[in-house]
Amino acid sequence: MTSGTVFTSPPPTPSAQVDNLALLIDNSKTINHLIQIHAALLRRGLDHHPILNFKLQRSYSSLGHLHHTVTLFHRTPSPNVFLWSAIINAHHAHSDRALSYYAQMLAHPVRPNAFTLSSLLKACTLHPGRAVHSHAFKLGLASDLYVSTGLVDAYARGGDVVSAQKLFDTMPQKSLVSSTAMLTCYAKHGMLREARLLFEEMEVKDVVCWNVMIDGYAQHGYPNESLLLFRRMMGMKVRPNEITLVAVLSSCGQLGALESGKWVHSYVENNGVGVRVNVRVGTALVDMYCKCGSLEDARKVFDVIEGKDVVAWNSMIMGYGIHGFSDEALRLFHEMCCVGVKLKPSDITFVAVLTACAHAGLVRKGWEVFDLMKDRYKMEPKIEHYGCMVNLLGRAGRVIEAYDLVRSMEVEPDPVLWGTLLWACRVHNDVSLGEEIAEFLVSNDLASSGTYVILSNMYAAARNWVGVAKVRSLMKGSGVEKEPGCSSIEVDNRVHEFVAGDLRHPRSKDIYSMLEEMNGWLKARGYTPNTDVVLHDIGEQQKEQSLEVHSEKLALAFGLISTSPGTAIKIVKNLRVCLDCHAVMKMVSKITGRRIIMRDRNRFHHFENGSCSCGDYW
Ligand code: ZN
Ligand code: ZN
Repeated sequence: MTSGTVFTSPPPTPSAQVDNLALLIDNSKTINHLIQIHAALLRRGLDHHPILNFKLQRSYSSLGHLHHTVTLFHRTPSPNVFLWSAIINAHHAHSDRALSYYAQMLAHPVRPNAFTLSSLLKACTLHPGRAVHSHAFKLGLASDLYVSTGLVDAYARGGDVVSAQKLFDTMPQKSLVSSTAMLTCYAKHGMLREARLLFEEMEVKDVVCWNVMIDGYAQHGYPNESLLLFRRMMGMKVRPNEITLVAVLSSCGQLGALESGKWVHSYVENNGVGVRVNVRVGTALVDMYCKCGSLEDARKVFDVIEGKDVVAWNSMIMGYGIHGFSDEALRLFHEMCCVGVKLKPSDITFVAVLTACAHAGLVRKGWEVFDLMKDRYKMEPKIEHYGCMVNLLGRAGRVIEAYDLVRSMEVEPDPVLWGTLLWACRVHNDVSLGEEIAEFLVSNDLASSGTYVILSNMYAAARNWVGVAKVRSLMKGSGVEKEPGCSSIEVDNRVHEFVAGDLRHPRSKDIYSMLEEMNGWLKARGYTPNTDVVLHDIGEQQKEQSLEVHSEKLALAFGLISTSPGTAIKIVKNLRVCLDCHAVMKMVSKITGRRIIMRDRNRFHHFENGSCSCGDYW
């Protein structure tokens, strides 16, 4: 359409002319077109026509030319409430300016209406939101649906869950927008039970609501719930979008649910829901494949992502790192920042590269990268980077060097870092340094359950039962509780979760008889359970039993009975795998000829034919 078409038709009647022009303004898709129409209005003296002027201002801001809107607004003599509301609405991303327009409006004086307030609330953070709330009361507009929705949204965005909830509960009519605002607020604050209740109550659920719920579960450590809900969504024929699929891929990654992840991948590729493998989806796929132990698939996706950003590179480098493929990780890092691509590495890049060095024991290379980060990229190492270095040095047996590094740090060491150092002492049997560190942690109130467990294990390994008893009473006194271990395994597209001693699984009976069979194999090969590793607070026999039912063993037993011989078994554990389970996995991989791939809190273990890719250091 060109401006010519406006003027070639016979001169219409004035009101029809206004209607036509209004339609043209609404339909203009480019700024040039809009300017042409604006010029035509000026020539005809119609630029102050209230409807046309309003529409012009609105179109300028929706086409991203806010400055034209502002100029036009300031040239309009005595703007009415709609124009004031529109200019406020146009500034919803600029809180200060929206509020200043509101103040000017009140000074003029023009009385605000519900549209003004709901526009203003979009721009409000918590504090001005409260002021607008009381103003809405004075104006008698607080119970208007749009205003109260805006208020719920402002409180929700500002993180005032209680006020948002109070207001929401008193709304006689709940719009999809206000329910979504409340739902988002709950999900963001990890109040998933409240979110779920509200979600189930909502009669109309659009894809946004499903996304809030599915993503909320994924972000707060309930990946299985997230997947179950996603399946329900698909069952109800709600079309997922990019946000849904990225959240679902994150859940698959957390669970190690490769089959489900692959399904999402082929869904994106074949189904044309309008979601493409762009940088965001591609990176989510890379991350999922890496966490599910399938590096080849991750790399295939990585190679075809167009316009890879630093996040995409980080995911792939980290993938190689946690699997112990340090050469690949380093090569990719080099390619990213030095040769081909020339992207500036981020904090996470260095965590990924140092992780790769740590998992492969590359001490010299690790120091090189650490120095590169400081000297060439002028980045101050953070606690995570020190953590990688300590892990690297500890692994290489340079416990003292690691301790010196920790003491020379400018940042305050955190419990995770101390735990890493303590673990190194444990592995290299440096009991005296371990004690020194542990005492420091206990006296500075920095000890976590991990600290006590490692210290106790260290004493147990040295057969120092007095030490073990001391730790036990310290632990009791501090009120620290052991985080419960949980393992999951995916079979036939369903994720099965186990905690220690779990009896809830429908096939529990078979699982426990498989466990007995496993024990038979192990005993026949002269294996004795490594009872030293248990926190020494139960009798010998009980200890042995409690080892038998560690969650990863239950998952392993279930994997053995529910998948066909020869298939690899993939297990995900939320904590670090214990010494005994690690030994058992190795033996079972040899006895059954199966590959067992286990992801624990720190890294991947590929068990094959009696040995593990971690080289028994993890
Ligand atoms: Zn175990
Ligand atoms: Zn291992």
